[in-house]
Amino acid sequence: MMFERCQWKYKRTIIDKVSQPESAIMQFGTIYHEDRNDLVNKIKEEKLTDNYEENYNYIRNLLPEGDDEIHNSIAKAEAERSINVKKTIYKPVYSERKFETIFCDPKYFKDYPNMVTANITDILTEGHIKEFNEVYGIDPVINIHGVTDEIYRNDDGTYAVFEFKTGSFNSGTSSKIRKELIFYKFLVSPHLDQPVTRIGYHYAAKDQYSFEDIKKRSITSLKNLMYKFFLAHITNKWTFSYYWKFCNEYCNLNKECRIITNYRR
Ligand code: SF4
Repeated sequence: MMFERCQWKYKRTIIDKVSQPESAIMQFGTIYHEDRNDLVNKIKEEKLTDNYEENYNYIRNLLPEGDDEIHNSIAKAEAERSINVKKTIYKPVYSERKFETIFCDPKYFKDYPNMVTANITDILTEGHIKEFNEVYGIDPVINIHGVTDEIYRNDDGTYAVFEFKTGSFNSGTSSKIRKELIFYKFLVSPHLDQPVTRIGYHYAAKDQYSFEDIKKRSITSLKNLMYKFFLAHITNKWTFSYYWKFCNEYCNLNKECRIITNYRR
């Protein structure tokens, strides 16, 4: 989540709506998701075949020029996925994991409310709610918006929320993705007939699919993050997070950001 990466970036981008050109990584993320939409449409139109190579070449052509691992990994993963999905679109996509795609096309979201008022008792602890009530005199009710890439049905009828991720992968990435996915769990849960018990993601940079049960400590981490999120909104105080590579290479606010200006001195 952008808020977790840098609160100041979140504030300037989401609240102040400072327009900024898309960074290369953002453009890549957009292309990645558009490619997936095209893929799903082609599968539905029966335009993809059962031939891995043909599908790989088709998907590779959807992606921009660039002979790098990430582009190839996306094309590889999607070619494999296209065959699995094409065989039986609502049957397990990854047979070894026994998952079933139920919302794999953004069209499904037209009847799917992605703007919800989250239940604060889910996303905050009792202590946090008490503090907001007693110290700040407010109920932190807020409309939270989010769309998860896919939702799978687990073998036992419960659900798994899923994301396709671009960008670099480091030791903290899994923990950030977990929080993001659990955030989505709380957004989509009221609209599903069974609970969300698992989370999963594909990380293009690693060409890796991961699925796991939701752990209690991940929910606690998300709640702590949401506390900071509400607190920043309520107090209008936003912290900076400096990380050399991200700030210098990916953040489009780096020209105005005084933290990075200080580091450059
Ligand atoms: S340059 Fe770094 S510290 Fe400044 S807004 Fe961007 S991410 Fe935050």
